[in-house]
Amino acid sequence: MHFSIITIFPSLIEANLTGGIVSKADKEGKINIEIINLRDFADDKHRTTDDRPYGGGEGMVMKPEPLARAVNHAKRRPVKRRRVILLSPQGRQFSQSVAEELSREKQLILVCGRYEGVDERFTSNYIDDEISIGDFILTGGELPALMIVDGVARLLPGVLGCSSSATNDTFCRNLLKHPQYTRPRVFEDVEVPEALLNGDHAEIAELRFVASVRRTIERRPDLMDDVTFSSFEKRLLKKYGIATSSSSIGKR
Ligand code: SAM
Repeated sequence: MHFSIITIFPSLIEANLTGGIVSKADKEGKINIEIINLRDFADDKHRTTDDRPYGGGEGMVMKPEPLARAVNHAKRRPVKRRRVILLSPQGRQFSQSVAEELSREKQLILVCGRYEGVDERFTSNYIDDEISIGDFILTGGELPALMIVDGVARLLPGVLGCSSSATNDTFCRNLLKHPQYTRPRVFEDVEVPEALLNGDHAEIAELRFVASVRRTIERRPDLMDDVTFSSFEKRLLKKYGIATSSSSIGKR
C-alpha cells in the first residue's frame, strides 16, 4: 500500500514516523509513506497555499491550484485502485470497518486541511471520500491522516508481527476484546485469573469469549445488534447465563 500525505506541515508527519510498527513497516518496504509538501506546488515566491475567503468572513481558505497539482503529482504512479481522501470534520466517520475498506486500496492520497478548510471546487473535482475522525474540530488534518495510516497499515499483510493480532482485536466481530494479563502473577495483591494459568487452551478460549461478550454488553451494548453468534457460541452464552438479544441487554 502506498500512502501519500499532502500537508503544509511535513514535520508533523515526520515526527510521528520515527518509531513504532508503522514506521518500521515503511522502512522495510512493506508499506510506502510519502510526505508531499503542499508548498512545493505553490506558484509564487512566497509559496502561498491559502487566501482570504470570497464573501468575507474569518480565517483563510486553502487555495485549489496547489492542492490540485499536489494530488496530480501523488497520482503519477500507475496503480489499479486508489482513493483521494480529504480529512474533514464534515466527512463520514472513521471506524474499523472503514479501515478495512480502505485497506483494499493500493494507494491512499490523504489531503490535510488547515485554517477554515479547502476551496469547495477542489473538493468536488478531486476528492473521492471525506473522512472525519470524530465530532470535534482539530487545527489540521495531519493527526487524522496519521490515524488513518496507522489504522489501515496494521491490517496489511506483514505489518504486524503476529498476523492474528488484527483479527482478534476489539471491533473485529463488533465485540470488545477480553481483559488481558501479563507477568507478574500478583500485582498489588491482585492475582491473574486462575483459569489463565492452567494451560487448558480450549477453556481459556471459552472464558475469553465469554468475558469479551460480557464487556461488550456492559460498555457498548449498541454494538451487540451487529454481532452474529454461531449456535455453539449461543449455547455457551446460555450456559453462562448471558442474554444477547437487544431487548434483554437494555441499550444505553
Ligand atoms: N472550518 C471548518 C469547519 O467548520 O468545518 C473546520 C476546519 S479545521 C479548523 C481545519 C482542518 O482540520 C480541516 O480542513 C480538516 O482537514 C482538519 N480537521 C479538523 N477536525 C477534523 C476531524 N474531526 N476529522 C478530520 N479532519 C479534521
